[in-house]
Amino acid sequence: MTEFATYAVSDEYSRGREYPEPRPQARSEFQRDRDRIIHSTAFRRLEYKTQVFVNHEGDLFRTRLTHSIEVAQITRAVARALRLNDDLAEAIALAHDLGHTPFGHAGQDALNECMGDYGGFEHNLQSLRIVDRLEERYGAFDGLNLMYETREGILKHCSPAKARELGDLGRRFLDNRRPSLEAQICNLADEIAYNNHDVDDGLRSGLLSIEQLEEVSLFARHADEARREFPSLGERRLIHETVRRMIGAQVSDLLAETQRRIDAHAPATLDDIHAAPVLVGFSEAMREENRLFKAFLRQQLYQHYLVLRMTNKARRIISDLFSAFMADPRLLPPQYLAMAAQSTPRAIADYIAGMTDRYAMREHRRLFAVGEI
Ligand code: MG
Repeated sequence: MTEFATYAVSDEYSRGREYPEPRPQARSEFQRDRDRIIHSTAFRRLEYKTQVFVNHEGDLFRTRLTHSIEVAQITRAVARALRLNDDLAEAIALAHDLGHTPFGHAGQDALNECMGDYGGFEHNLQSLRIVDRLEERYGAFDGLNLMYETREGILKHCSPAKARELGDLGRRFLDNRRPSLEAQICNLADEIAYNNHDVDDGLRSGLLSIEQLEEVSLFARHADEARREFPSLGERRLIHETVRRMIGAQVSDLLAETQRRIDAHAPATLDDIHAAPVLVGFSEAMREENRLFKAFLRQQLYQHYLVLRMTNKARRIISDLFSAFMADPRLLPPQYLAMAAQSTPRAIADYIAGMTDRYAMREHRRLFAVGEI
């Protein structure tokens, strides 16, 4: 096994767990974190949560679960190539989307609007809330009692006001300090994963065409390369050959640019990483290509009228549910009604955010359709 770089997070250079526990026997502390995340209830729910397409629209589209696994794969590969703690990197990646509401960003925006007067709703903070408080699996503590650095990586952004509420974990947002390189990698691996799989899912659903994508330099360049190498390739394989080349090019660029920045800053310890500017990044040229790529997806896919119809419906379902429970919290399942003793809106937000797409649709029917129970 290659040794970690001196500035990687390790069991020794960690701030540990909130509730001290005996060290694991045959695993590292961060392997244990990854395992706890995989066994959590919130992780299993990712299977039935949407990224862009509503889960029931087709079996072949990505869900938040398969997205998280793809992010974990890229994060782990990059972390290992840079001699960083790949177990930590993987744990952060697997947990990064736990706090998402049903119906992707439309759901999050709707719930945030509903929670406007009660502290708002943010999926990233919700992911942390799940691993810190909402998972009920252990006798000795609420949540999963993860290592500090795993929690730090999950909390990728945060307003100053929230940062102050979060105390120690929020400090870096007030002190302008960076998280570990392992966390920084996960951020960009997330971007690489969703841009590329949205192309794949967009083509598969028929909402995007190869002709349209030829406008995007990153796609056109790699599609040409694939056609040159395999002149008689059918469409399905051409798409995969192109997408895998795009992922490969982005990962190689990320590795080269990050190594260049590490060499330039020459960090020696984890503390140097916290004090340095962001070291994980794309080259200038790739950043520009990615910007165009994302602008294309926003315009052609996320704003596609069929996607907008779906997000419009999603928004209505979330706000209907929220209003119904606010009007009469006794409609909540007993477990959430008990949580409402502390804060009714927050308990409702926790309940709604935890729903899968299909559960939210079913719950909406139960509350609003006469004849459903
Ligand atoms: Mg993600």
